[in-house]
Amino acid sequence: MLDTQQKIKQLREELRNHNYYYYVLDNATISDRDFDMLLKELQELENKHPEFFDPNSPTQRVGGEVTKNFNTIDHTHRMYSLDNSYSRQDILDWETRIQKILGDVSLEYTCELKYDGASINLYYKDGKLEKAVTRGDGFQGDEVTANVKTIRSIPLVIKNKTIDTFEIRGEIVLPLDGFVQMNKERVEVGEDPYRNPRNTASGSLKLQDSAEVADRPLDCLLYQVVADRPPFKTHFEALQFAKDAGFKVPQTIKVCFTTDEILEFLNYWDENRHTLPYETDGVVIKVNSLDHQEELGYTAKSPRWALAYKFKAEQAITVLNEITYQVGRTGAITPVANLEPVELAGTTVKRASLHNADQIEKLDIRINDTVFVEKGGEIIPKIVAIDLDKRPTGSIPTKYITHCPDCDTELVRKEGDAKHFCPNEFGCPTQITGRIQHFISRKTMNIDGLGAETIELLYKEGLIHNYADLYELTEDKIIPLERMAEKSAKNIVKGVENSKKVTFEKVLFALGIRYVGETVAKKLARHYKNIDNLTNASFDELVNVDEIGDRIANSIIDFFSNEINVEIINRLKQFGITFSLDEKYLEDQTDKFKGLVFVVSGVFHKFSRTELKKSIENNGGKVTGSISKKTSYIIAGDNMGPSKKEKADKLGVPIISEIDFIELLK
Ligand code: AMP
Ligand code: ZN
Repeated sequence: MLDTQQKIKQLREELRNHNYYYYVLDNATISDRDFDMLLKELQELENKHPEFFDPNSPTQRVGGEVTKNFNTIDHTHRMYSLDNSYSRQDILDWETRIQKILGDVSLEYTCELKYDGASINLYYKDGKLEKAVTRGDGFQGDEVTANVKTIRSIPLVIKNKTIDTFEIRGEIVLPLDGFVQMNKERVEVGEDPYRNPRNTASGSLKLQDSAEVADRPLDCLLYQVVADRPPFKTHFEALQFAKDAGFKVPQTIKVCFTTDEILEFLNYWDENRHTLPYETDGVVIKVNSLDHQEELGYTAKSPRWALAYKFKAEQAITVLNEITYQVGRTGAITPVANLEPVELAGTTVKRASLHNADQIEKLDIRINDTVFVEKGGEIIPKIVAIDLDKRPTGSIPTKYITHCPDCDTELVRKEGDAKHFCPNEFGCPTQITGRIQHFISRKTMNIDGLGAETIELLYKEGLIHNYADLYELTEDKIIPLERMAEKSAKNIVKGVENSKKVTFEKVLFALGIRYVGETVAKKLARHYKNIDNLTNASFDELVNVDEIGDRIANSIIDFFSNEINVEIINRLKQFGITFSLDEKYLEDQTDKFKGLVFVVSGVFHKFSRTELKKSIENNGGKVTGSISKKTSYIIAGDNMGPSKKEKADKLGVPIISEIDFIELLK
């Protein structure tokens, strides 16, 4: 038998490799399921053997570390801005300027796309990711290592060690399909969609809970290696090294020898950039030779050896024909602009989202207005401005609807909500079917055999009025329906039966409580452990759960104080739906530390910080970021901050070691 350490090492390597093929090369070498099984195997071994803990193990990608305040860190080498250019002439002028400084040498350039996201500086030491720092003001940035580690395309350990200690810079982006998916989910739970991928990417880096970052489909595209004495002659070679080391360096980079070649690159990508899976907002032209780069140096704010060329934002002009209103499954109303079809960035645009009443008021948009539409990041294009000169005389301001377009109930808008809602939860057809459709979807109860249309049919035929009714469907009831064969009826009944095994987290998400999306449902499930605890939770208790705010808490209270919901849940219970956390998860749980508040500080040997925190929480304790009178214990590792120590002494809070903690656990 392989010894454990060896086995752990082997698993880590294997997982790292699959990860690389999947996330960097976009070429899967293993099924998701097999990957998960290997990961689980490794996780179990690591749990049993905390002495082999490694912060760069593939198991550390799932996040879990919570950062309340991000440390500010000095960049070892400043992160400069780039000078911008907007025309062919600007580029020619730049070339003349640098040619003058360098004298009569022949110049080589690289052209790269300018990826539109959040810049990041990754520090590697001895081949391992040491820290990740945002650009900040270029001199100092925030350390966001825990969050960045969750981005699967960033190697935690490099593959090629030509050099193993260096900085590498890149752009963290949110690819478009992931962005669309995230927004779809947000809109579904009644939240406003995110504005654009760039802001969402940079916002993600500052999330406190790294597990939440791990759930976001972020990617990182690298564009510069910085090392003290690099063994490379050119920027291109340096990027080639980065690629070999396991980083994602886009293929689109090109070495150019003449201005014409540069211009060709610009023109090509100006036209074709929308075929890429992520957003770009220009091209960066760099002098290829690192010697030349050094000779050219920097101005006060940017390198002389590089120049950015910005693409023009693509706009189209068209006319607003009509505003329609959509009802979501939570009753949220979304106004939609129906436009005279127009070509924009390679697609025909017919509709644009108007988000909510405020947006309409802010734009003062009216029927028959001539509008400017942009695809600036949003997939659904947005209306950026109105051409008031073209406004027809006698046009009247848009009045937001007062009643539901579906069931004609008067709409409500609560304080603090951006959106109007139809309050007729149990009578509004779109809400009824929408909720059931959500209940059966892949990320919730995952009921095979049922689709959106079948739900509508079953509802229309009076067979279901809510999701509990699904569990009373029988083949006999389904077969007589139009276009229902025996086989599909069988599948539906089987799918419904299978859903009884779906885990509590997913069931909670499936219930369709407003503002309770996938992540929130997970948090609540872990915290409350079963539906009864959650049902009985008071507002004050709810807002004390990490990241549950007033709005979510109110929505949960509303949901469970509604008799109809209570009855539906009781029926679901009788049908045998899973309403508590998996036994396995509960196994190591006690309430030994109930009422105790811990602060964790420093570096540990027996546990990772995440494990330590998990162990506290599993035993009913609470972990907070800062020391106060309420703190019961501080668990101190190596290098605990002196200010923390001082504060602890002042408040008389006991400081214990990880060994003491293990004693407490026993
Ligand atoms: P700016 O923010 O306009 O000064 O542009 C500089 C920023 O462009 C850098 O901080 C990078 O984050 C970003 N950038 C995106 N793609 C590239 C690239 N290929 N090369 C250099 N910088 C890039
Ligand atoms: Zn309605």
